[in-house]
Amino acid sequence: MKELLGSHVSFSKEKQMLGSVMETLAYGGSTFMFYTGAPQNTKRIPLDSNLTLQAHNLMAQEHINSKDVVVHAPYIINLANAKNKDFNISFLKEEISRVEELGLTKLVLHPGSHVGVGIEEGIQNIVEALNASILEDQKVIICLETMAGKGTEIGSHLEELKAIIENVSYPEKVGVCIDTCHLHDAGYSMENFDSFLAEFDRVIGLEKLQVVHVNDSKNPFSSHKDRHANIGYGEIGYEALNRIVHHPKLKGIPKILETPYIDKLYPPYRFEIAMLEEETFNENLEMNVVSYYKDHKNIEYFDK
Ligand code: FE
Ligand code: FE
Ligand code: ZN
Repeated sequence: MKELLGSHVSFSKEKQMLGSVMETLAYGGSTFMFYTGAPQNTKRIPLDSNLTLQAHNLMAQEHINSKDVVVHAPYIINLANAKNKDFNISFLKEEISRVEELGLTKLVLHPGSHVGVGIEEGIQNIVEALNASILEDQKVIICLETMAGKGTEIGSHLEELKAIIENVSYPEKVGVCIDTCHLHDAGYSMENFDSFLAEFDRVIGLEKLQVVHVNDSKNPFSSHKDRHANIGYGEIGYEALNRIVHHPKLKGIPKILETPYIDKLYPPYRFEIAMLEEETFNENLEMNVVSYYKDHKNIEYFDK
């Protein structure tokens, strides 16, 4: 069955969001996620309003709803630590206005790492930074991502995200993005997804769930590692992930693949989307991806 499913795609200098939409269509996705620049730095180019308009026209033509499209904030901004506070806040404010300028409403953000000050103070820092960044009348919802709990990461327990949401001035502007790899690595079983959802509903409230990142995990349950694997090729497995993608309670929530490229070169998304839509595991994923891209060297949306 057709689900609201897509992947991480690129956002190039030349084509900006128009290129992201084209790449999505090449993968057969019905939604997508991108960074507005490199994820590991805060250098950002000015947005071209003409390309944004063309992107929206193409989306309308292909029935991609802009409310389902996701932007991911760069992961180097760390709101949990007071170091670089002013820079982080001004960058987040700019990023929110960039998302508005792109005509989108979902911005995924890692809560951050407390780097020694402790979880409580870390959460306090996040709340303060969010309060200094979020405007009462903004349309953008900040979606705090569940984390694997690597190092001093905040957000590997639902209670931590709840504490942030409860304490911000505009809780209606803050939601949650769950990441299956991170949850598995944090010690939430994806095998018993119904009981996870019940817990999520009890602690945070299901209405706060805005985005689902669908990834397998290279590491065992509760390993606190955060290394993504291709769908069905990791420790979570195809069956559990397929059930999550088609879960009736997640209907209408965008699901985004962030799985690794094959041989670091070839995007797996076209084939992973197909195996989830057809509900049949593809045991030849690697071979299919490699031979597809070897044979299609000149396809427009693939410039590796
Ligand atoms: Fe993320
Ligand atoms: Fe993620
Ligand atoms: Zn991750």
